[in-house]
Amino acid sequence: MPVYVFACHECGSFELARPMAEASSRASCPTCQSEARRVFTPPRLTRLAAPMRRALDTEEASAHEPRVVTEKRGRPLRQRREPVPPWVMH
Ligand SMILES: [Zn+2]
Repeated sequence: MPVYVFACHECGSFELARPMAEASSRASCPTCQSEARRVFTPPRLTRLAAPMRRALDTEEASAHEPRVVTEKRGRPLRQRREPVPPWVMH
């Protein structure tokens, strides 16, 4: 469902998800229950592509709750042999 922005003159703006058909009808403010008008902004679609949504959520979360790595994961890197410079003749 798209999310629309409404404004209450007492409490300011709030967002509301509702069907597109009801986009322009009045809504009541969730705080004071008075009538709020729709603010015309481009509708923000809640159905964002899943990988994008996850990326945004991760980005948002890491800003205020950074995840700390406490243990090593995965396989250790294989020891590489010293690279032979191209000018060395065999
Ligand atoms: Zn209000």
